[in-house]
Amino acid sequence: MEKYLIRFWKEVEVEEIAKHLIIIGELTGDCANCREININYTMEKYCPKCKTEFKYITSRPAAEIKSNRFSIMKRISDRRQDLIPIDYQDYKDIMGKIKARKLL
Ligand SMILES: [Zn+2]
Repeated sequence: MEKYLIRFWKEVEVEEIAKHLIIIGELTGDCANCREININYTMEKYCPKCKTEFKYITSRPAAEIKSNRFSIMKRISDRRQDLIPIDYQDYKDIMGKIKARKLL
């Protein structure tokens, strides 16, 4: 049977996810924990710099290619079945709120 992507909604501690998240840019990944860049997201299980274990993965899409997000995430989750894909926009929105709250 063919597989399709479907998003699940779940309450989580986003700051915990941020410690184990790799964010895919155009060609390589960034570590959300220490901001290390140029990480090979097709194979790295740990950040080469801070050594955090990657458990989650997301893609930073160019705003204009929103319609491609599913195909990008599908490609990523096919390659990295060991990682849990999360939605970048959700992550970004929540981290923005957390940062704003910390400034108060
Ligand atoms: Zn790192």
